Amino acid sequence: MRFTSTFAALSSVMALAISASSASPAADRRSTQPSNQVAFVTNCTSTSDQPVFTIALDDGIRSQEYHSYVVDAFNKRGYTPFFFTNGDNYDCLFKYRHEIKKTLKHGQALYGSHGWAHPNATAISLEDWERDIELLELAYINMGLGRPYFYRFPYGEHNDEHLVKLKERGYLAAVQWNQDSYDSWGKTKHEILSMLRQDLRSPALPKNLLWLNHETQDVDVKQGLLNFEFKHMKKLGKKYVDLPQCLNYNGPLFAPPTEKERQLASQLPTNDCKAFAAAYDQLPGPKGRKSL
Ligand SMILES: [Zn+2]
Repeated sequence: MRFTSTFAALSSVMALAISASSASPAADRRSTQPSNQVAFVTNCTSTSDQPVFTIALDDGIRSQEYHSYVVDAFNKRGYTPFFFTNGDNYDCLFKYRHEIKKTLKHGQALYGSHGWAHPNATAISLEDWERDIELLELAYINMGLGRPYFYRFPYGEHNDEHLVKLKERGYLAAVQWNQDSYDSWGKTKHEILSMLRQDLRSPALPKNLLWLNHETQDVDVKQGLLNFEFKHMKKLGKKYVDLPQCLNYNGPLFAPPTEKERQLASQLPTNDCKAFAAAYDQLPGPKGRKSL
């Protein structure tokens, strides 16, 4: 309720922030990006003198244990993690609807979209990819949150058509990364730390860092990779900012759904993610366009 009533006020802040960001130095690379495409972001556009970093974690929610570990690891330092969640990847997102709403409400965690089932966007049809992102939009709408504004491409794989579609669907940015944590490369912690140490002492290291991590990986949750990143960033004088701050963005994370979207979302079963997707596929209308 509060969200809906504050949306109008917040959306004007959002418009200002996004247009302001297009004038920032880090956005210059994007200046050639056609205006019919969503912003494609790989680094913080923060103009603060102090170097900043942020970490966004993909592919979850894997389990309550993994999610809580990450949230606590950030919160105990006064940081807020950003999760690019999937609907049906390691586990079914509906199981965590209370967790997501609770952490959002208390400012403990922030959320965006990593699509429904983690496809490589360039390996499937545009229509199938739109279905994948629409399923997660409807899931978030069903949870009472709305349509997500921020998306991260699985594997970073995409083309211009995807950026156009994201813009049409009301997304504000595709947020990728400029520092891989290597946590999903199937390497040992020792190997990962050695690769990271090399990156972090390179003269080419960007001033600001936008990290790719995964909530689902043992090296993050059980073996202390996140702690290494936090400590090393501190050593390099980089201050943690949350993802919206990294993007100079002050608005909401979700757009209010239309009545049609709300109705669609409410008629799909949410006890099981496979049943949710199967019921969606039975609805009349083209794939990925049913809610529009
Ligand atoms: Zn992923």
